Amino acid sequence: MTECLFCKMVSGDIVPDVVFENEKVLAFRDINPQAPVHVLVIPRQHVETIDELDDSKLAGELLLGACSVARELGLSKGYRVAINCKAEGGQEVYHVHLHVLGGRQMTWPPG
Ligand code: 5GP
Ligand code: ZN
Repeated sequence: MTECLFCKMVSGDIVPDVVFENEKVLAFRDINPQAPVHVLVIPRQHVETIDELDDSKLAGELLLGACSVARELGLSKGYRVAINCKAEGGQEVYHVHLHVLGGRQMTWPPG
């Protein structure tokens, strides 16, 4: 049995608040939202970090998944897509995920 939190969401062992899904990716609301809309887009396949993401088609599916989330949740005024990679990037869950943040003005640079 997998110990990976996000793999458990893919398998259904943990049921997330899903907002978008297709054959390759799953998108669900973050448990600790940092904006009115904060959704995580993950590959169904376990990949630890973007450094291990060597499948360009899957990388594209993730990015298009983020855009689909933004469209479905009405973020027509704009939004941010972020990926944290490893310790200094602030990654806490080692299953690749794109953060889709919106519904408020974003600031730059991020902390
Ligand atoms: P990271 O820091 O790895 O880029 O982001 C991990 C994200 O996963 C965080 O924003 C955190 O709030 C979210 N998260 C952690 N545990 C859970 C959980 O059990 N359910 C959901 N929906 N999100 C989680
Ligand atoms: Zn995983």
